[in-house]
Amino acid sequence: MTPRNNESEDSLLGDSIDDNLKLKITSKDPNWKPLNNIVWRNVIWYLLLHIGAIYGFSLAYVQAKWFTLVYALILGQVSFIGVTGGAHRLWSHRSYKATFPFRLFLIICNTICGQNSIYDWCRDHRVHHKYSETDADPHNSNRGFFFSHMGWLLCRKHPLVIACGRKIDLSDLLEDPLVVFQREHYLKLFFILGFIVPALIPTLIWSESLWTSFWVCSVARYCSQLHRTWLVNSAAHMWGYRPYDKSIASAENAIVSCLTLGEGHHNYHHTFPWDYSTSEWGWSLNVTTMVIDLAQKVGFVHDCKTVPKEFVNSRCNRTGIKRE
Ligand SMILES: [Zn+2]
Ligand SMILES: [Zn+2]
Repeated sequence: MTPRNNESEDSLLGDSIDDNLKLKITSKDPNWKPLNNIVWRNVIWYLLLHIGAIYGFSLAYVQAKWFTLVYALILGQVSFIGVTGGAHRLWSHRSYKATFPFRLFLIICNTICGQNSIYDWCRDHRVHHKYSETDADPHNSNRGFFFSHMGWLLCRKHPLVIACGRKIDLSDLLEDPLVVFQREHYLKLFFILGFIVPALIPTLIWSESLWTSFWVCSVARYCSQLHRTWLVNSAAHMWGYRPYDKSIASAENAIVSCLTLGEGHHNYHHTFPWDYSTSEWGWSLNVTTMVIDLAQKVGFVHDCKTVPKEFVNSRCNRTGIKRE
């Protein structure tokens, strides 16, 4: 592990924005309203997805085999590592380094989750960290729970999100052939890995009906995974404790931590975004940290960045809840 105590994300976040843009980044621009910028294609897609997910949950309750339910839960959690350990901790924050086989595993998991290509996800996430709770933040929580949860995906981006996104340095992502390949073939890969393969496995191995398998393991599993991720942008930016930095919106949210198995330590994460563990509590309710640590033990992962305890304590005393 590589302890760091004075690193900021600026090296990953590109040049600072010019003064003209800086002036425009306010907490809320009254002239830009989500309702005037709706993308109806996305509204219809998410509406159909949610109707399908409700149907999938009803099939899970009344007729899916036990094996199918267990498989859907395991697939949901394993593939979620592709977002938490892949798109987030590895590719967005570069908080650790990984070998090609582990990156391949992560990118397959990430594609199953279907949250846009890693390239797009990282651009939005780096902008989110740099301009949190402003109009340049793609899921600005000052616009309310629904907007930061999923509303931001139903409307055109605020012009400042686009302008600031263009300023973010993403050259490191273009140096990774896996990220480039996924970006070029994203929709095909997502359709195959996110919908077809998850539905075929229960049918081929334990004779689940393809109809049930599709609605439970592909549609309902996918939709519930989206909400688990979105809760980090919405609930964990609104409610919870702020022991590390009281001045920021992101919070330690226990419910989000339980639902995501470890991604709710969000006040810590925004205060120390380079820490590969996104929390100071190690394996305590943090499945992604467990996976990264185990991968490190067998040589797939190295250079995990951490924050020394004394540095965390002094930061808490300075900007959060005093510890001494
Ligand atoms: Zn982050
Ligand atoms: Zn955040």
